[in-house]
Amino acid sequence: MTSHTTANDSGASNAYALPRHAIIREVGLRDGLQSIPITMPTAHKLAWIQEAYEAGQREIEVGSFVPARLLPQLADTAELVAYAKTLPGLVVSVLVPNLKGAERAIESGADLMLIPISASHAHSLANLRKTPDEVVQEIARIRAARDASGVPIRIEVGFSTAFGCTIQGQVAESEVLRLLQAVLDAGADCVGLADTVGYADPHMVRRLFEQALPIAGERLNCGHFHDTRGMGMANVYAALQTGITRFDACLAGIGGCPHAPGASGNVASEDVAYMLASMGIQTGIDFDKLMALRGKVADWLQGQTLHGTLWRAGLPKTMQAPAIPATPTTLAASA
Ligand SMILES: [Zn+2]
Repeated sequence: MTSHTTANDSGASNAYALPRHAIIREVGLRDGLQSIPITMPTAHKLAWIQEAYEAGQREIEVGSFVPARLLPQLADTAELVAYAKTLPGLVVSVLVPNLKGAERAIESGADLMLIPISASHAHSLANLRKTPDEVVQEIARIRAARDASGVPIRIEVGFSTAFGCTIQGQVAESEVLRLLQAVLDAGADCVGLADTVGYADPHMVRRLFEQALPIAGERLNCGHFHDTRGMGMANVYAALQTGITRFDACLAGIGGCPHAPGASGNVASEDVAYMLASMGIQTGIDFDKLMALRGKVADWLQGQTLHGTLWRAGLPKTMQAPAIPATPTTLAASA
């Protein structure tokens, strides 16, 4: 009979191996809003940050340091960082596409800058006009600039199209792993894997994370899943089983996929929080407050398609919403 308990060496598919705490980084203000055609007023974004914080969220990606002419929706990022930094214990991240954006992030006072790298050569050329290896070189320049500044801002690299791409289709796992090593060598403090276009299934997620973890160790500490084809939650769970405890999500599942009109964007923050809480994993989130905020965001984004399921049905009577806040977790300890 003991063979049953030892058959699963990794313990990864054993529910009891699930972590007790997890972090949901709210990326609705960046990944969500950037693909929504209307510009949310800064006052609404400030209220969103404040109320997400009050609902217990402790990591928020507030915007992106890209030229305002490219993404006018995110032109107020510096102001949002300044406000978010007044909230004690909030980890504030911003997306930066290049060294120029990184310099603004360093000045801004943000805690973390997220640099996207596309594992797909074709996607990288189309979106950044650089090959993935040129992006690796840019990451090394950003690391040098960060170190020279003396500012303790962390560098996170997010691998977009890690599970496939709408332009080139298949993205080889070996290429993702090669670039992962290169990015770590270039000086990334931490890395995450993203299913930008919703091509991943749970087996793909588990396989890639299991191969990437021996390379990156605790520096691999984020899963970013889009729900384009309904796989988002299953993919979160698959990553969770490999030991990942930090996930990007958008309130109301906003965002989307430019190549699949009407398709949902990131997994919905409230749904991920519910799944984790239902399994006994603390995220520190207060559902009443988060759902109240969702209602406001829905008002602010009238006419836009929202997603997620918890808002329709509410919490089940069998679930006791966790009252205990998540223990303060540093980024380093969040792997
Ligand atoms: Zn995304």
